[in-house]
Amino acid sequence: MSTQLGLFATGSAALDAVELVAEQDFLILNLSGGKDGLRAAVKARDAAVQAGVEDRLWTVHASLGPMEWPACTVGGVRYPSVGELAAEHSRLLGVPPERHLELRRSRAGVPYDLLTFIAERGDWPWLGRARFCTGDWKTKLIYGAFSHMVREFMKAHGRPARMLNVLGLRADESPDRRKRPPLIRTTENTHRIVDEWLPTHAETTAFVKEWTDAGGWPHHWAYDSVPGAGDWAGSTRCSCSACVFSNHRDLLLAVARRPRLAALYAEVEYVRGIPFNPNTSITALIEEAARPGAPDPGVVLDDDNPDFDALLTAVRTALTRPRNASRAPEPARAPCRPSAQDATAARWPTRACSPRSPGLTAAHHLYDRRTDDHGEPTAQRLPAAAG
Ligand code: SF4
Repeated sequence: MSTQLGLFATGSAALDAVELVAEQDFLILNLSGGKDGLRAAVKARDAAVQAGVEDRLWTVHASLGPMEWPACTVGGVRYPSVGELAAEHSRLLGVPPERHLELRRSRAGVPYDLLTFIAERGDWPWLGRARFCTGDWKTKLIYGAFSHMVREFMKAHGRPARMLNVLGLRADESPDRRKRPPLIRTTENTHRIVDEWLPTHAETTAFVKEWTDAGGWPHHWAYDSVPGAGDWAGSTRCSCSACVFSNHRDLLLAVARRPRLAALYAEVEYVRGIPFNPNTSITALIEEAARPGAPDPGVVLDDDNPDFDALLTAVRTALTRPRNASRAPEPARAPCRPSAQDATAARWPTRACSPRSPGLTAAHHLYDRRTDDHGEPTAQRLPAAAG
């Protein structure tokens, strides 16, 4: 059961924030490496300092591995990956290194990446009943990381641990995020009581950027036109490079900046016969990004590293096997398949899987029932992580 709390209905928000954090046993600050998680974390950190409970602060980064923005070197200067920047943000927040967790899903002792899972299932996070990219690759991972601490807490104190999950989601990011309450109870059981807090819910994008620059906080290179430009003229979001919920310009930038990753997405899309995005295909984006007038990527990464190679191998191996459809709804994909005569990866998604394609009708119906363009399910019972 989700319980909306009346934090901001009465009294001073600042005073309530201090009261809110003071009653928690664990303060979990989600750092994606982006500006919004940082801004929210600073507000929660400041409240914790005022309440004298800064020793209860934890920072977490749920990594999407090679799918998120990596480090790059331009002009002899190295710019960090989102994971590295999240760790740096944690350090600047004053959280000790032992209380910063970088989490990555694994299987049989090796990283198990989201794109491999998508290749196995044959669908993308915009399809289906649950946002598995944020759910299984972030929320559950973070939830599980605290399980042993919660058990120890229960043994020591004889009561459930109180946990505050702090996220940088803001109302002006999407219609669905506008509807999110700034404070909501997401979990209540014998071991833990978890509230989700969005301390920056009412803040605008412009304000957060100005605040970031004014405070001298480092922001990720992906936000800029060129790494190091500091102009916020690049991607509007900072997590997976090619988020299935990103806007069109962000996607054009992503495929141009990371052609090897885009080509791998296109393989999955082509073999499984399902476009990665409800409004376009990755192959169409690759074509559009190469045309005159497309956004200048500013930097092009080669993704020539062992982690990416491991992802590529895992994805291609998954694509040699039948689709594991037992865990996913069946989309209307048959009409999107190329015919035997024109089965070329370059032509197919652009022509046959355009938004006007009747082959996408059922799949779009699924999407239409999900109004969030980037957020998470609004009624999940676990502490949500930002995507
Ligand atoms: S919502 Fe987008 S950025 Fe977040 S995990 Fe899913 S695909 Fe990646």
